[in-house]
Amino acid sequence: MYDVLVIGAGPAGLTAAIYARRYGHTVAVLERLIYGGQVANTPDVENYPAIARITGADFATNLYTQAVDLGAQVLFEEVLSATLEGEVKSATTSSGTHRGRTLIIANGAQRRKLGCPGEERFAGRGVSYCATCDGAFYRDQEVAIVGGGNTALEDALFLANLCSKVHLIHRRNQFRGNPILSQALLQKENIQVHYDTAVDRILGETAVQGLELWDLKTQERTTLPVRGVFVAIGLAPENQMFQGALSLDEAGYLVADESCQTSIPGVFVAGDTRRKALRQIVTATSDGAMAAFGASNFLNQLQFQGYARETME
Ligand code: NAP
Repeated sequence: MYDVLVIGAGPAGLTAAIYARRYGHTVAVLERLIYGGQVANTPDVENYPAIARITGADFATNLYTQAVDLGAQVLFEEVLSATLEGEVKSATTSSGTHRGRTLIIANGAQRRKLGCPGEERFAGRGVSYCATCDGAFYRDQEVAIVGGGNTALEDALFLANLCSKVHLIHRRNQFRGNPILSQALLQKENIQVHYDTAVDRILGETAVQGLELWDLKTQERTTLPVRGVFVAIGLAPENQMFQGALSLDEAGYLVADESCQTSIPGVFVAGDTRRKALRQIVTATSDGAMAAFGASNFLNQLQFQGYARETME
C-alpha cells in the first residue's frame, strides 16, 4: 500500500510525486503510455518561468528523472478502473490492483478528433495528432494543420521548418492562440492560412492525397492536395471511469476547487483533467503541488487520528 497513488505521469502527476516524496510519503505513479504527457510531444517550451527555452522532450525527462531520483515509483500500466470511496483507494490496471491511502487523478486530456470522413481511415497514413512525432515523415512535402490554438500555431511553425508548404486551416478569422506565435507564423513565407474554413473530408486511396475544404463564408468547396494533415483542435478529457463517483462538468472535466480536493476525502484532481480556465504546464505543475500538499495533510490527519485512538485505548 502506498501513501499516495497518482494516475498520470504528465507535469501534474510527476510534480505531485516530487512534492509527495519531499513530504516523506511513499508514492506510485501509474502511466499508460509515456511520461511527460502532452509536453513530451511539444517541440519547444518557451513560457515556463525561469526556463527561457527547453525542448518538450527534455522538460519531460527532467521531471521524470527528478521524481524517480527522489524515490517515486513510476509504473507503466494503464488504469482501467478505480475505487475512490473508503479508507483505501485503489487503481486496477491490466497487471493488477494498486492500493493507496490517497489518490491523485492527473490523467490529463487527449487530442480531440475532427470527426470528418477519412480521419479514422487514414489515421497513421497521413492523418496525425502529433507534429513533433510525425513531422519528419513529410520533409519537403506539402501538409495541412487544422486548428487555431497554441498547439496548431506552434506545430505550424515547427512544420514550416521541415515541409515545403504548410496550410493552416482555421474555422474562424481570429486565432485563439498566443499573439506572439500568430505574428511569427504570419511572417513565414511557406505558411498559408485558410481562415473561416473547415475540413469536410480527407481524401485518398491508401493514404492521404488531399483535403476537401469548405469556406464557411462563401460556402465554396475546394480541394487541397496535401500528403499529411495534422489535427490540433484541442483536448478532451477521458474521465468516464469516474462518472457517478466524482462530479464532472458538461465537457467531462473533473470538478475540484483550486485546492484540488474532490468531494471524496483523500481524492485529489490535478492538471488538464480538472475544470479550469487556463491549461498550461505551469498550471499543471501548480495543481500537482497543491494536490500533494492536500494529500500530505490528509495523511498527517489520518496518522494523528490513529495516534489519538491508540493513546485513548
Ligand atoms: P485550444 O486552445 O482549445 O484550441 C483549439 C483550436 O481548435 C481552437 O482554435 C478551436 O477553434 C479549434 N477547434 C476546436 N474544435 C474544432 C473542430 N471541431 N473543427 C475545427 N477546429 C476546431 O487547444 P490546443 O491548441 O490544443 O491547446 C490546449 C491547451 O494547451 C490550451 O490551453 C493551450 O493554451 C495550451 N497550450 C499551451 C502551449 C504553450 O503555452 N506553449 C502550447 C500548446 C498548448 P475556435 O478558436 O474557433 O474555438
